[in-house]
Amino acid sequence: MAQINENYLKLQAGYLFPEIGRRVREFQQQHPGAEVIKMGIGDVTRPLSPAIIRAFHEGVEEMANARTFKGYGPEQGYDFLREAIAANDYQQRGADIQADEIFVSDGSKCDTGNILEIFGNNNTIAIQDPAYPVYVDTNVMGGRTGKYQTGGYYEGIVYMPCTAENGFIPELPKQKVDVIFLCYPNNPTGTTASKQELKKWVDFARENKAVILFDSAYEAYIADPAIPHSIYEIEGAREVAIEFRSFSKTAGFTGTRCAYTVVPKNLMAYTSEGEARPLHPLWFRRHTTKFNGVSYPVQKAAAAIYTPEGKKEVQETIGYYMNNARIMRESLSALGFEVYGGVNAPYVWFNSGRGMKSWDLFDKLLHESNVVGTPGSGFGPSGEGYFRFSSFASYEDVVKAMGRLKELTW
Ligand SMILES: *Cc1c(COP(=O)(O)O)cnc(C)c1O
Repeated sequence: MAQINENYLKLQAGYLFPEIGRRVREFQQQHPGAEVIKMGIGDVTRPLSPAIIRAFHEGVEEMANARTFKGYGPEQGYDFLREAIAANDYQQRGADIQADEIFVSDGSKCDTGNILEIFGNNNTIAIQDPAYPVYVDTNVMGGRTGKYQTGGYYEGIVYMPCTAENGFIPELPKQKVDVIFLCYPNNPTGTTASKQELKKWVDFARENKAVILFDSAYEAYIADPAIPHSIYEIEGAREVAIEFRSFSKTAGFTGTRCAYTVVPKNLMAYTSEGEARPLHPLWFRRHTTKFNGVSYPVQKAAAAIYTPEGKKEVQETIGYYMNNARIMRESLSALGFEVYGGVNAPYVWFNSGRGMKSWDLFDKLLHESNVVGTPGSGFGPSGEGYFRFSSFASYEDVVKAMGRLKELTW
């Protein structure tokens, strides 16, 4: 008798975006003439830039010729890409990361979920609330939680509330935690963490022999030079942190698929006897056993992001989205919303300022303005009352949507 993984039965997953889709469809059936503007989902809309496309084509052409054809590549990624990453994303920022500490993959969604495999089942996991839903759901699938409880929490996870009251930076946990997920610039709140704030977490992890899983998928959106792009800009972080980066939001690779994970060679975790062991060989083993590398043309395309033209073009696209974010911020503030994020991240996080629940605001915006965003409560219980707009829409749609919000009556 084949038995299922019953942990999957605990999942409440698939609630948020399907529920948004259901409400939007129902509204459209009742109002077939309404033009609905979608600013909900975190997917980019601008095409890959010319330098990236050129490199992508070159990679495809090489595959068409017996002399340059490539079969299986190194599972951890081609050296040309890993070296470009180490030099540009780390060494140039004063972070000591080497090419052989970088694992190229097909996405940070997979990596942030899969990384749990190299940690024992008895770890206590701490997760920001609200958060990117993958962190919680993959812990549920892996059997690291108890049941789903009313109120939106799973037993066994340490939730770290991030609200306006604490500036969206969680308090250090009072109880013992072993693995800590942190995401900055943050999805969904669009907020960032300073060097001093990250230092506090690195020190906490060092004192508690914990490991930080740092998701910096949105680092390319940081405009303020004082904000760290990588956790490795913090002294001591090499000993306690794994970092996840993705080209998805940086350079429009959501449909192309390329990301990477950094596991420093001196990062340790412990056996049940308390003996320190490096995590790098474990992730190396996992990656080379269960993954066969990202396609060569995609890695060629990703490497083009680090060329002078590539860098310039990527910045132009980011500037386009950040102009949308600015328009959203200014419009929402003028309308009396409490607005956060959207300065060093593509997400604008706001509160009606009128004590409304997230889903009530969702329905109001859908019905009265025909504008779709994401209810904050869908990212975790502490997101209740908040709402997220993504700046990955077209400029024209953003201007039109903000104009409609001005007509709202309360
Ligand atoms: C979009 C996103 C990612 C990137 O996921 P990919 O699988 O690389 O496309 C990672 N983390 C967060 C928080 C995200 O929002």
